[in-house]
Amino acid sequence: MAANLHHKHFFNDELGELDELASSLEFPRWLKDFTGLSEWPGIDPPYIPLDFIDFNVPTLVPIHKQGQCDMIPNEVSSVCSFDCHNCVSFDDIHTCSKLSQTFDDGPSQYTPQLLRQLDKTNTKSTFFTIGLNIIRYPEIYLKTHQKNHIMASHTWSHPFLPSLTNEQIVAQLQWSIWAMNATAGHLPKWFRPPYGGVDNRVRYFIRQFGMQLVLWDFDTFDWKTVGDLLKNDETILRDVKTFQKEKNNQGIILEHDSLSQTVSIGIKLNQHLPDQLTIPQCVGGIDYIKQFPR
Ligand SMILES: [Zn+2]
Repeated sequence: MAANLHHKHFFNDELGELDELASSLEFPRWLKDFTGLSEWPGIDPPYIPLDFIDFNVPTLVPIHKQGQCDMIPNEVSSVCSFDCHNCVSFDDIHTCSKLSQTFDDGPSQYTPQLLRQLDKTNTKSTFFTIGLNIIRYPEIYLKTHQKNHIMASHTWSHPFLPSLTNEQIVAQLQWSIWAMNATAGHLPKWFRPPYGGVDNRVRYFIRQFGMQLVLWDFDTFDWKTVGDLLKNDETILRDVKTFQKEKNNQGIILEHDSLSQTVSIGIKLNQHLPDQLTIPQCVGGIDYIKQFPR
């Protein structure tokens, strides 16, 4: 991977901080030609017009911030808000025939530790990656991909999507996809919204890229172990075991490969769950919309 260093802002997801760091991924020629830009954008990426995107959202969903649910009707057909009402649509994936781990917010410097453990149990997992982190750690992204884990999208800079305009939502999706394509030459099929923030307006755009939503039915809250005495590796493992029993070993576990603590929990849970599926294996779907020969 060419080391073409640009200085730019990067978003440290869990801490909510802006770091001054360098991208190690070159801005590719095809993207330069297509966007007219010369470098990767920051946390508020510009919308680049795409001829296949239709902005005539057929359903009226009010723009809302996280937790602002007063004006969001609890109605499946029109709004179907997951963040406000836990509503899932017919094509959303929210469980799996085998209880399986999934990892959000990477790649990070801690991802390789997790990869070593997944190798030990021969687990193929699904990683929902953030564009800004892909261009920061392209080698770790590639390594994860080369180990045949499924690379999926988790936006460009991790915003709460229902609070964005239509153009901002499309920008988050397009730049995420371009970072994945520039790094590993593929177009993602699977998408997970940050904070579970999704409703029918957001779904409308995700579907236009051919992507499918992946939610979860077990949240580890692994990030809460930082400074929380009530949640730790042992309580999370205990809760997973209880869930596993209740659900007859079915489900999707939400975890993060972005922090040292969350990766350490991921390693422990993997030791307990040696037999897992990737999201496409869970539902009999494709790995990627397209993989370009390299
Ligand atoms: Zn996330």
